[in-house]
Parts: sequence; C-alpha cells; structure tokens
Amino acid sequence: MNNLQTLPSIEQLLQTQRSADLIAAYGRSLTLDALRATLADVRARIKSDPEAAAPENDLILSDAESRLSAWTKPTLRPVINATGVILHTNLGRAPLSNATIKAMNEVSLGYSNLEFDLETGKRGSRLIHAETVLKRLTGAEAAVVVNNNASAVLLVLSALASKKRVIIARSQLVEIGGGFRVPDVMKQSGAKLVEVGTTNKVRLSDYEEALAEASGLVMRAHRSNFKLIGFTEEPELKQIVNIAHKHETFFVDDLGSGSFVDTSKYGMDHEPMVQESLAAGADVICFSGDKLLGGPQAGIIVGKADLVAKIKKHPLARAVRADKTSLAGITATLLHYLKDEAEREIPIWKMISMPLDEVKARAENWASELGAGSVAKNEATVGGGSLPGESFPSYVLSLSVKSPDKFLKKLREQNPSVIARTENDKILFDPRTVLPEQDQLLITILHSLLSELK
Ligand SMILES: *Cc1c(COP(=O)(O)O)cnc(C)c1O
Repeated sequence: MNNLQTLPSIEQLLQTQRSADLIAAYGRSLTLDALRATLADVRARIKSDPEAAAPENDLILSDAESRLSAWTKPTLRPVINATGVILHTNLGRAPLSNATIKAMNEVSLGYSNLEFDLETGKRGSRLIHAETVLKRLTGAEAAVVVNNNASAVLLVLSALASKKRVIIARSQLVEIGGGFRVPDVMKQSGAKLVEVGTTNKVRLSDYEEALAEASGLVMRAHRSNFKLIGFTEEPELKQIVNIAHKHETFFVDDLGSGSFVDTSKYGMDHEPMVQESLAAGADVICFSGDKLLGGPQAGIIVGKADLVAKIKKHPLARAVRADKTSLAGITATLLHYLKDEAEREIPIWKMISMPLDEVKARAENWASELGAGSVAKNEATVGGGSLPGESFPSYVLSLSVKSPDKFLKKLREQNPSVIARTENDKILFDPRTVLPEQDQLLITILHSLLSELK
C-alpha cells in the first residue's frame, strides 16, 4: 500500500469530534473546502516525494483549522499606534470617545427613528440629525452631515455652482491626499474654475477683477498639508467674504479639518476654526468629522438656511448621505464640545492636551517594566491634513535593536499589530498616541518580542 492510499477520506475526517467542532465554528461548506484543500496539498506533497509519510488525521485537521482561521480573519483590524501621529490617516484617523461609541452601538443594535418623525408619526428626514446640535454649537442657520468632507465639497459645488464660475486662489488648488485634488472636484461638479493670483500671492484686487464677471461662488480651500512661507500675501478672510458679497456672490469655505478648539493654546499654529469662518461671514462652511473634530468619518456642512436647503435637495445628497451610525456618532462627539468637555472626553484632544510630565512618566514606566530601552525627548505631530509641519513636545521610549526593519516587521505581525517609527536606527514608541488602556498590552507584546529576539 503506498502512502497515498493511507490518507483518510473526507468522510472519515468528518467522523471526528474535531471536524464537528470546526463545522460548529466555521460552517459546513467552508470546513469542507478547508479539508479538501488540505488533502489536495498532502496528495501533491506525497506525489512529488513518494517516501513522504501520510500525516496523522490530527495534523490534517490542524492544517485545515489554520486555513479556516486565515480565511476568516478580517483584513481590517485594530492596531496600536505608537507613531506619535495623532490623526494618522492610514491608521483610521480619530479614535472615538466612549459616548460616541455608545451612541453608535445603540443605534446599530436595534431600530431607530432615522427617517421617522416621532412627533407626527410620518416619514422624516435623516438630514436633520446632528443639525440641532450643530446649529447650537456654531450659531449657523442650518447644517447637514454627509459621508465625508470630500463628498461635502462635491455636493456644495454641485448644488450651488454647477455651470457657474467659482473663484479660488491659485495657491489653494491643492491635492489633499489619496488623489483628492480641489481642481478635479470642481470640474466633477460642473463648476467653472477661475484661478486668481499667483502661487504665492493673491490680492483683493485679483478677486475683484474676477468678480467683474457674474460668478457662482468665491471659495477658499484650506491648505491642509503644506505651508506657504516666504514672499506671500493673502487678504484677510473677512475682506474676501466682503468683496464676494459686494458682488452678490456667495462665499464657501472648505476648512478641511476645522477645529472647535484653539490649537495655538498647545503651542501649535492656529488651525482655522469653524466659529471664525462664520464670524467672517462665510455662507457655507464644510469640514471633516474625523480630523480635529475627533469623531467618525463624516463631512459636515453648515451655513445659511436657504443655501443648505438647496444642498439638501440636490440629487447628489442622496448619493453621499451619511449612515445612521455616523450620524449618531457625530452628534455624540459634537455634544462634547457643546458641554465644554472636549479635552476631557475626545481621545485626540486628550492626546494633544496630555501634559508632558504624564507622557514622560508613561514612557519611563514602559522602560522600567521592560527593563530595556531609554526615554528621550522627541516630538509628536497632529497629521491627517491638519497643522502641516507642526509638531509639539513629547517623550518616547527608544529601543536599540539589531535589525530595526526586522523588528518593525515583527511588531506588525503581532496581534494587535504595533506601528512604531524609527529614527537613527532606534525604534521609537510615543505614549501620546497609545491609548492608556493599551499600555499593558504593549508592554506584554514588547516583552515577548525582546526575549524572542535575544
Ligand atoms: C481632508 C480634506 C478634505 C477631504 O476630507 P475627507 O473627510 O477626508 O473626505 C477636503 N478638503 C480639505 C481642505 C481637506 O483638508
């Protein structure tokens, strides 16, 4: 009898308790696929090497179980962010507050009044959710929340400026990342792009000249990811708004991040605030839900009632609508600002406002628990299309390892993966972006990696 003939059949494997357990955990059809794939592999191995012994049933079942586990492992998984980049777009931007998670959880567990008016018992609109709190928080006449800020910009331009001229400074025709280019979005909306000024300078007279011809909008797009320094000039926001209004043209401000907290109090540049745009007289303002707001992915539009009404009615509003979980989450996040508790409750503001002493103490605690590495002063950044080039003081745990690249790869292979950065061949771990409740987990992971690689 050759080794191939000693292999068990699928039916024989199915008699075992272990395969019954696998079927209970993964379902019958997926388990059968895994058993077949495993047996096919074993057969191929024996055919290429007739001396190879047929594996025990247990080994075949273990192999099938590994396949099942790999096939059903989500590609999207939690990671520990030790990079010190607070709004890391590749790592999912803002972690959410407890109240935000609770609100999103509640609205997904069961039914909700998403599009149901509880007062009249009739059909309602999802576009009203978050509006009340946005109006109270900003003082704007109306508001609407959509899928993300890119779609907010597209929607606003499509609703207010299709086939019309949109005047924008040349220095603001930016690419945000992921191929999102302001000029392309304007084209997509059907608006006619009118660039004014030069790369480094734009004057009020440039706007005035362009406004001599009837136009749909004057727009500002925040230079979210780069800085214009040196020989530059740009009028005050209020002056641009006034000149637009003088020519009976609306002013739209794409703030990108937009902040409700003054970032300059943390020693950083001043990130444009929603309140400031409104005070300057902007007619429509849009910003992201998951940048400095610190909430779930969303695009927020606030502004004049008649314009927001037009935006809500545009067919694209349906295509870019927010889902119930983000509406619930955005509302809960906004409430933190309304209740003046943002820095206490919203994770990204807790990270930004964490006292330097506390960051240092955590890094020191990591070092002493590990009995390895040293603590050094370094810098964290906000990232995510906010405050370009701005960093603020932080402390890191710095580890010297034989092969930094290999170590980083090992860190990524952990469960959860740990993402860190290197500097001068040292691996740096910044406590600012590690959630305090992840400290122990991180120490455990580092501990076992360090002893493994010794
Ligand atoms: C980030 C950004 C956007 C896109 O926002 P998302 O929420 O990522 O879609 C648009 N405009 C500006 C100026 C931005 O900074």
